[in-house]
Amino acid sequence: MSGTLERSLRDVLGDDGVASSEDRRFHSDATEAEGLTGVPSAVVLPASTQEVETVVRWCYDRDVAIVPRGGGTGFAGGSVPLHGGVVVDLQRMSRVRAFDPLLWRMHVEAGLRTSEVRRLARESGLLFPPDPGAAEQSQIGGNVATNAGGPHAFKYGVTGRWVTGIEAVIAPGEVLATGGAIRKDVAGYDLKSLLVGSEGTLGIITSVWLRLIPAPAASAPVVAVYRSSADGCAAIEAVLGSGIVPAALEFLDAGTLQAAGAAYALPLPPEAGFMVLAEADGSQPETDATVSELRAVLGEHALEVRAPASAADVAALWRWRDGVSLAVEAVRGGKISEDIVVPLDRLDDMIEATLEVARSHRLQACSWGHAGDGNLHSTFLIDPHDQAEVSRAHVAARELYALAAAHGGSISGEHGLGSVKRGHLGVQCNPATLALHRAVKQAFDPKGLMNPGKKL
Ligand SMILES: Cc1cc2nc3c(=O)[nH]c(=O)nc-3n(C[C@H](O)[C@H](O)[C@H](O)COP(=O)(O)OP(=O)(O)OC[C@H]3O[C@@H](n4cnc5c(N)ncnc54)[C@H](O)[C@@H]3O)c2cc1C
Repeated sequence: MSGTLERSLRDVLGDDGVASSEDRRFHSDATEAEGLTGVPSAVVLPASTQEVETVVRWCYDRDVAIVPRGGGTGFAGGSVPLHGGVVVDLQRMSRVRAFDPLLWRMHVEAGLRTSEVRRLARESGLLFPPDPGAAEQSQIGGNVATNAGGPHAFKYGVTGRWVTGIEAVIAPGEVLATGGAIRKDVAGYDLKSLLVGSEGTLGIITSVWLRLIPAPAASAPVVAVYRSSADGCAAIEAVLGSGIVPAALEFLDAGTLQAAGAAYALPLPPEAGFMVLAEADGSQPETDATVSELRAVLGEHALEVRAPASAADVAALWRWRDGVSLAVEAVRGGKISEDIVVPLDRLDDMIEATLEVARSHRLQACSWGHAGDGNLHSTFLIDPHDQAEVSRAHVAARELYALAAAHGGSISGEHGLGSVKRGHLGVQCNPATLALHRAVKQAFDPKGLMNPGKKL
């Protein structure tokens, strides 16, 4: 069957437009360690919007499922062809269609890597603020499809805030264009925002218009260490209460510091039970002023406060922060890591709740994440070969979803639902809201062929 499919798609797209369905690069995403893989019926690499249209029409006519794929860095199994289907990989659609630095905007194809978008902006003195962690591999289309965040989302918001227009191919093979180079558009329903975060379940994003801003001239971090998460979370709230606007406001709890602290450039105080990592940015005088304010406010109940200043120390600090996830994973060889989000004043409760849930399931746990956004990577440490432990961690994760919702939060603030959290939206939505989600899906994709088994 898959051989026949591949051959017919080769007739439509040519040899360059089809890859081998046996190529394992298309079988998984960043959830591979959790065992999530699938073999596609075929893999296509369209080079233009028109080719995407052709593929979608081809699949829709034959009732074949479509699995859009960006850089494959997702943490929700969204681009994994769990039940076969045609993987539509956007890597060949990476052109810059327009770049107007003087007007702070660019129009790029979905397959352009996130790091390239940021590099292009930077070279013209501009900033594309979203900074999800896998920027070297992820694509802008994947970022828009997951509405990706990152440390600087606290000040600058998540990816969707920077998208002014989207071109997408929807069923049964039509181009939808919404927004564009305009900065405002309230004429119709906000279809652009519906596509943002839709995880490939409504259509295939082929290009996006992005808004840019002048890059801040300077940035500088402040690191504060506390005895407890209660002290640290109080300090985070004090930062907001004092009117300071840091670019990033991150946290690491005691378990995370135990796992990753040894790799930190300077020794931590032995009583260290919580860390806040803030960043100031702006003009040089603004940055200096914000650093002083942060030192004062964060320092009030801290064990110590540091403000690394040299370029090497600052780079080492962020490199260390980027490695936290891997350091945590290394403790037992595996982890189940969530991305729940709660109102900021419930952050400490949720950090504690994560530990309580872990205790009740005989698991080790820790949390870190984007404190200012109330976004926690609540994490259960597991030995991936211990099936009983892995199962307990999955049950514990489900309990966290319910707790996040009970705290007025959401089960996903960053990675989306994909297949990993599929079917859990009801934890935070009432039946009428869920029904509307299904109606939207039905309107975009009446045959249910766009990334089936994901999100809803
Ligand atoms: C080391 C590491 C750090 C990370 N840090 C962050 C972080 O800080 N913040 C964050 O939010 N995430 C983070 N992630 C998760 C991941 O990088 C993001 O979810 C990213 O946006 C996925 O982009 P991608 O191009 O890899 O998409 P993929 O993984 O290929 O796909 C993700 C989803 O989007 C859909 N999709 C992809 N492209 C398209 C398209 N063109 N049209 C329609 N649907 C599409 C897929 O079907 C799938 O459902 C991290 C991942 C790793 C491995």
